[in-house]
Amino acid sequence: MSYLYKKYFQLDSKFLKKIEKAEEKIQPSINLIKEIVLDNQAKVLRAFKENRVSEFHFAGSTGYGYHDIGRQVLENIYAEAFNGEEALVRTHFVSGTHTLFVCLDALLSPAETLLSAAGAPYDTLQKVIGINTLPQKGTLAAKGVSYRQVDLTPEGRLDFQELERVLKKIKSVTVVLLQRSRGYAWRPSVSLAEIEKLSNLIKKINPNIIYFVDNCYGEFVNPVEPLEIGADLIAGSLIKNPGGGLAPAGGYAVGRKDLIELIADRLTAPGLGKEVGATLAHNRSLFQGLFLAPHAVGEALKTAIFAAALLEEYGFEVSPTFGEERGDIVQAVRFTQPDYLLSFCQGIQKHSPVDSYVQPQPANMAGYGDKVIMAAGTFIQGASLEMTADAPYRSPYTAYLQGGLTFEHGKIALIGAIKEVLETINRNKE
Ligand SMILES: *Cc1c(COP(=O)(O)O)cnc(C)c1O
Repeated sequence: MSYLYKKYFQLDSKFLKKIEKAEEKIQPSINLIKEIVLDNQAKVLRAFKENRVSEFHFAGSTGYGYHDIGRQVLENIYAEAFNGEEALVRTHFVSGTHTLFVCLDALLSPAETLLSAAGAPYDTLQKVIGINTLPQKGTLAAKGVSYRQVDLTPEGRLDFQELERVLKKIKSVTVVLLQRSRGYAWRPSVSLAEIEKLSNLIKKINPNIIYFVDNCYGEFVNPVEPLEIGADLIAGSLIKNPGGGLAPAGGYAVGRKDLIELIADRLTAPGLGKEVGATLAHNRSLFQGLFLAPHAVGEALKTAIFAAALLEEYGFEVSPTFGEERGDIVQAVRFTQPDYLLSFCQGIQKHSPVDSYVQPQPANMAGYGDKVIMAAGTFIQGASLEMTADAPYRSPYTAYLQGGLTFEHGKIALIGAIKEVLETINRNKE
């Protein structure tokens, strides 16, 4: 290890030993990630070549955005890379939550039932659906959409027996939502095998049911995407994996043509659909971001695996462990004590390229039930393919770490954050 690096952190030999040990342990996982990145890069490159991308596609449009050839080609590339018939890729989606809401609202009519297959969905979606809240205008519940969920097994896996029972019993289910990523929950991400098995189950019981995968944080983590193994529709955020760290905002949906058309009509207006939506000056960063995404996701995965190994060396409980199969870029760490969690998140922020001097504190945030602490020293506000750590401020004080556009930065920030936690532990001892 270089002298400067040691000096920057003033790491003692004990700390250095642990870093070396963590690096050794993760080598097989790092090699596997290299293979996945290569596969996904090839997939994305092929889509670029087949769509004959050229400089003029980056120009963008204004006003209504009719005949925006760049936008159309970008959407064709997304469709191809994720194996869907059609795609909607827009900066007009303000976030992942908005994208998922527009999809659900477009697909669900009054008296129909939405079934969540992996327990309670992501915090912000609970408000969208209208779970656990007073009746509120604009939610799916207010429109007359019913909601059911099938909880995960105690091991955090899909409960296929219960899913089969519910799907057979409740005939009004028209959409099954599967959240692939763990979100803010201590559970494994849904594996490719489970995604495929659920598809087979749904198609067996009622092939008209729409199988919709919330693909946030899952893109390019595996060599296979949900649409290749039976999903009808996927959606996610452009300031996570597929934006490659460059997309300034937005969301995407890819899948069956008829579904994308409904969703486009809901995003813009019935009859307008995909034909409108000015891209202004954003086309280039969406193209280039997608091109870089497989590599950037690989860097984030390496960072997560290194974090799992090193935090485990220090006796913290992590999920997943460094060698476990992954379906998202999220790394959870249980700190059990609020001040350790705080130190960790503040440490990640302290070693970020933007707002490094800011000390994040737990605060209320729109869409979330508990106070949330967020470390996001990012170029794009809140973009979590960049190195970020966040946590709902509740027991057992679990941090959710994700991103890292470069493994080198991920490593530095992580070492810095662990150092902050160790200092807090030592201070408590005095
Ligand atoms: C991030 C995320 C969302 C919501 O995305 P935002 O862009 O934060 O609104 C939904 N589902 C999952 C699994 C996520 O990780």
